[in-house]
Amino acid sequence: MPDKRDYYDILGVSRGASAEEIKKAYRKLARKHHPDVNPGDAEAENRFKEISEAYAVLSDKKKRAEYDQFGHAGPQGAGFDFSDFDFGGFRTGGFDIGGFTYEDLFGDLFGGGARRRGPSRGEDLSYRLQISFKDAYKGAEIPIMFNHTGVCGRCGGNGAEPGTGTANCPRCQGTGQEKVAQGAFHFAHACPQCNGTGKIVSNPCSECRGQGGVQKQERLTVKIPAGVDTGSKVRVGGKGNAGARGGPPGDLYILVEVSPDSLFRRDGADISFDLPLTFAEAAMGARVRIPLPGGASTTLTIPPGTQGGQKLRLKDKGFPGLRGRGRGHLYAVVKIRVPKAPKGKAGELIRELEEALDMDPRKGLW
Ligand SMILES: [Zn+2]
Ligand SMILES: [Zn+2]
Repeated sequence: MPDKRDYYDILGVSRGASAEEIKKAYRKLARKHHPDVNPGDAEAENRFKEISEAYAVLSDKKKRAEYDQFGHAGPQGAGFDFSDFDFGGFRTGGFDIGGFTYEDLFGDLFGGGARRRGPSRGEDLSYRLQISFKDAYKGAEIPIMFNHTGVCGRCGGNGAEPGTGTANCPRCQGTGQEKVAQGAFHFAHACPQCNGTGKIVSNPCSECRGQGGVQKQERLTVKIPAGVDTGSKVRVGGKGNAGARGGPPGDLYILVEVSPDSLFRRDGADISFDLPLTFAEAAMGARVRIPLPGGASTTLTIPPGTQGGQKLRLKDKGFPGLRGRGRGHLYAVVKIRVPKAPKGKAGELIRELEEALDMDPRKGLW
């Protein structure tokens, strides 16, 4: 078989590629060239066959070693035996080469593709929640209302009117799959009549019209941990959509957005705010009331000779670390406020002060 291309070249991997790399390369190529994605395209069909064959050998430890040693001729000089391998990829009982199922490869491409029967987990949902800076600082419990698909209370999720049962689907005889032949290839699709479940409901539940799930509005109090920031996700387990056929529900993800605060600014776990001082307070020192991000206040001692722009640190008053470790700090950024051209006695005193201080703030700078 001298005209055959090298299996590694076909998959576009190096000879030293790991099993994981080979799997990844195959997945990518198989999705691109799968005949279901390229109906009627003979070239894609050949290409798919070629990459599947390459993968069948390179994903098998023993075959790969033989191929590395003997090439396409195989150990007996007669090539590799593919009799147990269906290049359509999907043998009866489910497609499985190298641990891939049809759904792993193409589930998301074909939407309602050949879904495995049996329980499947419900969808995850997300909910945007805007919270205040203060709630992000302290943590909060916030009530929300959200919609999800819950299990139908009338039928318990099986879609059949209570007291009636389900029957095997007549279209697929209860297998849930429909086989389609396309040239040399055989594919299994989810049966459209029963959506791959293999069962049909002869007497659909009057509440959910046989769907098994109903849209429900639910109230929930979400626990927001202290320290969250915009972009934080808070998971509420089991509050996503109900699972199908008795599968577990998905999760609800709260996507947090923290509103900006008029006073406090956040920088990671640290917080800063502007602290206006008179020049007398800055020069002589003072004790001033300052606000804390959680809503309380405290007294801060301003040391004499404090300069504008200086940052006074309040240790451990920033945001808590989300993983329970460490805490940021709170910084008061000094802004010196000067009186605007005071007239009369105050103006005279400032002039007098200027003379008494005899201070040149630019001395030595240029
Ligand atoms: Zn129902
Ligand atoms: Zn069916």
